[in-house]
Order: sequence, then C-alpha cells, then structure tokens
Amino acid sequence: MNIPMVDVAVLGAGVSGVCAAVQAARLGLKVALIEKNGLPGGSATMAGISCPGIFHAWGKQVISGIGWQLVEACRRLENRPLPDLTRENEGHWYYQIEVSPVLFAALMDQALNDAAVELHYHTMPAALHAEDDDWRITLCTKDGLSELRARIVIDCTGDANAAHLAGYELCTPEECQPGTLSVYADGYDPNALDFDAIETAFDDAVARGELSSEDTGWSGAFNRHFLYCHGNNSNHICNINAFDSAGRTRIEIAGRESILRVYRFLKRQPGLEHLVFHLGGCECGVRETRTIVGMTTVTVKDYVTGRAWEDALCHAFYPIDLHDKAGKLDYRKLEHGVVPEVPRGALIPRNSHRFLVAGRILSSDRLANSALRVQAVCMATGQAAGAVAAAAVRNQCEPLATDLAEVRTVLVENGAIVPRFKLK
Ligand SMILES: Cc1cc2nc3c(=O)[nH]c(=O)nc-3n(C[C@H](O)[C@H](O)[C@H](O)COP(=O)(O)OP(=O)(O)OC[C@H]3O[C@@H](n4cnc5c(N)ncnc54)[C@H](O)[C@@H]3O)c2cc1C
Repeated sequence: MNIPMVDVAVLGAGVSGVCAAVQAARLGLKVALIEKNGLPGGSATMAGISCPGIFHAWGKQVISGIGWQLVEACRRLENRPLPDLTRENEGHWYYQIEVSPVLFAALMDQALNDAAVELHYHTMPAALHAEDDDWRITLCTKDGLSELRARIVIDCTGDANAAHLAGYELCTPEECQPGTLSVYADGYDPNALDFDAIETAFDDAVARGELSSEDTGWSGAFNRHFLYCHGNNSNHICNINAFDSAGRTRIEIAGRESILRVYRFLKRQPGLEHLVFHLGGCECGVRETRTIVGMTTVTVKDYVTGRAWEDALCHAFYPIDLHDKAGKLDYRKLEHGVVPEVPRGALIPRNSHRFLVAGRILSSDRLANSALRVQAVCMATGQAAGAVAAAAVRNQCEPLATDLAEVRTVLVENGAIVPRFKLK
C-alpha cells in the first residue's frame, strides 16, 4: 500500500497547532494539520474564548510572530484599532485582544492555505506507531480509517492526545481546574434590573439546590457581570476530566445543564422575561488537562522569577491564575520587570523520538501551567515547535539536537521575538 507521506503532522488546530503548521510549511516542509472539528482556533473559536493575550509586558511587546500577525489582521479587518498596549499596570484583561471568532477562524484558514498546509478537518488519530525513521498515523476519517506517514509529529491537541497514543509519560492532575461554557445574553436592559433582588433570589435558589453557586461565576454569589456584560465566560463546570471522550461528553452535558438552570432561573426575574441566550462556545472551554513530562519542566519558581533558559525559544506573560472548584482563585501578578521564558526542552517529551508538543500541554507544573496556558504563549510555542520540527527534518536529527542558533534565526526572520536573541 502506498501511504501518503508528509514531513510534519500537526495534530490539533487550536492556536498553537495553526502557528506550528504555518511556520513549518513556510519553511518549505510538507505539513498536514489534523483537526477533529471543522474549524481552526480550538478554544479561541470553538469555546468562544476569542480574547488572545498577552503579547505585551511592562510597556513593550514580548510575543510576536504568526499568532500576533493573525490577531492584528483580524482587528484591521474589523476596523477596530488596538488599545495602547504599551501602557503599563492595567489589569491583565486590558492586554487581551478581542477578535471576532468567525473572522479569526477564516483568517487562520487563509494563512494555512497560503502556506500550503494540507488540511484534514473532521479527522482524528486512532493510533500512532513509530516505524524506522517515520511515524505511521492511523486516522479516523468520514470515509473510514486511513494511514499517513510523517517524519515528525507535533501534538497541539490541548490534552496531549497524540503523546498519549504514542505512549509517552504524561502528568495528570488529581483534579483539573473547572471548565467554562460561554454564552451570550440579550433581550434586556441591564440598567433596568434590580440586582439586589436577583442576588437574593439566586441565593435562595442555590439553597434549594435548584442552582449551583458557580452557575454564573466563581465567587459563590450571583455574578452581576454576567448580566452587565451580556454573558460571556462566567460559569465553573467542576470535577472534569477533559482528555478522553467519556470525560469530554460529561463536561459538555454538565456545561449545557448549567446554562439551562441559569436561563430558567433568570427568565423568572423581573426585567428578564425576554432574555435570549446566544451561542458563545460550541464546546466547553477547558483550562487544564494533561501536560507532557518533558526534557525540562517549567516550575512556578522558574516562571515567577523569569528564569533565563539556555534553550529559550519564546517569552510568556500572564499572572498565575489557578481556579479551583470552591470558587477560589490563586491569582498572583508577576513582579515588575519579570518576563518568563519557555525553553525548547518543555516542548519535547522525555524519551521521545521525532516528537514535539506546543500549547497548553507543554511540560510545566500546575501553577506555572495556569499562566502558560494562555493563547499568546500557545501561539509562540506553536511557532517555535514548527521551527524546531523544520530544523529537525532538514538536518535529519532529533528535535533536541537541533541547532538553537538556526531555529532562533528562523523564528526572528518570521516575526517572532526570541528572548535575548537578535539577528546579526
Ligand atoms: C474559560 C476560559 C477563559 C480563558 N480566557 C483566556 C483569555 O481571555 N485569553 C487567553 O489568551 N487565553 C484564555 N484562556 C486559555 C486559552 O484559551 C487556551 O488555553 C488556549 O487557547 C489553548 O490553546 P491550544 O492550542 O493549546 O489548545 P486548544 O485551543 O484546546 O486546541 C486544541 C485543538 O486540538 C483539537 N483536538 C483535540 N484532540 C484532538 C484529536 N485527538 N485529533 C484532532 N484534533 C484534536 C481540538 O479540537 C482543538 O481544535 C481561557 C481558557 C478558558 C477555559
């Protein structure tokens, strides 16, 4: 049987997978991008979390490249100027850049097509086998099973699905952070509502067991922002495991049950008789699943001290932001001037061959991961993984043996910012 062959197979077309695929393809590699849904963006589009961030720290840009170019292009298309991102000391949400999820997905499609990435939507891997110098990937498609060979695999599934199928060691938290199902609310005037009365009714409904205290937010009380801001990502869907099909099924159902409870409750409140809920996320947004056990693991101490890694490939910037099911946040701002870095070793599973990861699943402890998981970092690690994969294919070596100067040069030539590195 003649099995199709590519240089790089990227699994998962979230923001990390898109940047990985575009970067590797722009370097002349044959790249296949395999995605279980019908559009790119993952959490940024499917879960309605269309606020990529954070690209700027302490008054200057620290993450750039393919992801940033897409964000800028989307805002230009929408005719929405960017805020002044060189301003310091605003809340972290100020630096997150809202984009239209549908336009953002379309622009990602366009960038993938322009780079000649072979797109396989509605496709999932069933098995990964290491064979001689290649990976043999069995894909589930609408037409049945098919085979693909790839020299390098990049896992961008957000839950280390490919690394799991390849048999690599993973780190699974005993209990993951809650997920969130986004919804948009309309059909009322927030200024005409009696919030005190709604709050009292909410507490009564929670006491009766009709609502969960985290159905509109995670403070344990009614979240006024939910109505003031016309919905958006507010609830906490607790006790989740979002890395297998059974777990994913439960979280999606629990998310919609929560939305239904809130809708039924709010519809009964004065001023909300005509409340409408519009689709926010098609899927539940997932904050945390598994991470790989990498050659290097970024710890919270590395993160908050801005450790300078000898194999650093990009920056990260976000507060520590761990949500727990009791509605508590472990939220810690970075000290002034600290800009964390991500090493190449965090993108390579231990004892792996011709395998990389990018995005939320990079090797990190839970607290570091609670900050590293955001989209700008996922985009930057995606682009970095694409450049490492290209160097590994070109030089017929393992990702760990790639020449850092070569990888960094390619990244900077493609618009990325590499810590402490400038082109000569
Ligand atoms: C409620 C909430 C709010 C957030 N707020 C922000 C915010 O404001 N700003 C911000 O920057 N970040 C935010 N984040 C974090 C951020 O959105 C995600 O961590 C990030 O987008 C993850 O990107 P990723 O590419 O690693 O993975 P994902 O976005 O999860 O993408 C993974 C992709 O892989 C696909 N996939 C999975 N398994 C397979 C498989 N077996 N085969 C094929 N395809 C597969 C998925 O369908 C998906 O498209 C938030 C997260 C949540 C949950």
